[in-house]
Amino acid sequence: MERTLSIIKPDAVKKGVIGPILARFEEEGLRICAMKKIQMSKRVAEGFYAVHAERPFFGELTEFMSSGPCVVIALEGEGAILANRRIMGATNPAEAADGTLRKLYADSIGENAVHGSDAPETAATEIAYFFAGTELL
Ligand code: GDP
Repeated sequence: MERTLSIIKPDAVKKGVIGPILARFEEEGLRICAMKKIQMSKRVAEGFYAVHAERPFFGELTEFMSSGPCVVIALEGEGAILANRRIMGATNPAEAADGTLRKLYADSIGENAVHGSDAPETAATEIAYFFAGTELL
C-alpha cells in the first residue's frame, strides 16, 4: 500500500467539481485516508512549493494556490502515486489525455485543477505538511 497527497486546487473548488474529483478517486480504487478544506496563506503555499522557488512561475503559482480554498487529501492504494498521476493527466491541460482530471477541469498550465505527489519521498513530506500522523485513518 502506498500513500500520496492530492490537492483539489482553488480553480477546481471555484468550479464546484470537488464531488466528481473525489468520486473519480474512489472509482479508481484510491481510498481517502484524510481530507480537509483549507485556504493556504502565501507563506504556506511557498513552503509547499519550495522546490520550485527558483522557477520563473513561482510567484504566480503561490499567488494562485493561496487565492482561495482548496481541498487537501491523503490517498491510499496500490501504486497510489502513479495511479493518481495517471488520473490527473499532464501538467498542461492542452497536452492531457482525454478523460483525465486536468483535461476535464483545468484551463491552463498554471491553473490546472489538481496536484499529485511525484515520488514516495515527496509524498511522505507533502502528507506530513498538512496532516498529523494521527489524522491518517
Ligand atoms: P505537476 O507535478 O504536474 O503539478 O507539475 P510541476 O511539478 O512541473 O509544476 C508544479 C505546478 O506549477 C504545476 O502543477 C502548475 O500549477 C505550476 N506550473 C508549472 N509550470 C508552469 C508554468 O509554466 N506557468 C505557471 N503559471 N505555472 C506553472
